[in-house]
Amino acid sequence: MSKPGLRIGLGYDVHAFAPNRKLILGGVDIPHTQGLLGHSDADVLAHAVADALLGAIRGGDIGKLFPDTDPAYKGADSLVLLGAVADLLREGGWEIVDIDCVIAAQAPKLSPHREAMRENLARAMKIDVDNIGVKATTTERLGFEGREEGISAQAVALVERCC
Ligand code: MG
Repeated sequence: MSKPGLRIGLGYDVHAFAPNRKLILGGVDIPHTQGLLGHSDADVLAHAVADALLGAIRGGDIGKLFPDTDPAYKGADSLVLLGAVADLLREGGWEIVDIDCVIAAQAPKLSPHREAMRENLARAMKIDVDNIGVKATTTERLGFEGREEGISAQAVALVERCC
C-alpha cells in the first residue's frame, strides 16, 4: 500500500541546436549564435521541470500532454505549458514543495541568467522563487553538449499531497 504524502519526480530533456532559432531557457531569451530546435519554443529547462512534476504525480510526460504533432503547440511558450502542468497538479490535490534543476551546456555562459530563469519558472508555477534552484554546468567538452550540438536539462521535483 503506497503512503500518501511526499513524492519525487525526475525530468530530463534534450534539444538540438539549430541556426536561426532563439535560445530560450527558463523563459529567458539568451543571446547566442544559435538556438534550440523544437515544435514549441524548445525551452529544454521548462520541459525538464514539467516532466519532473508530472513524474512525481505519475502523470505521464509533457509529450503526452502537449503532443508535438498538435499545431496548437507550434512555437508555444513553454512557460505557459509549465503553468498548465502546475495547475494540473493543484487540481489533483498536490502542492509543489521544492524543485532543483541543472542545465548542461558548453556555451553560452548561463550563470548571468540564472536568477531570471528562477524568477520566470517560479512565476509560471505560482511558487516562491526560493523553492526553485537552477544550476548550469559544462560537460568539459565531452558528449553532445560538449560538442555544442545541443543542451540537456535535468530537474527533480518534490510534491506533497495537500488534501
Ligand atoms: Mg522538450
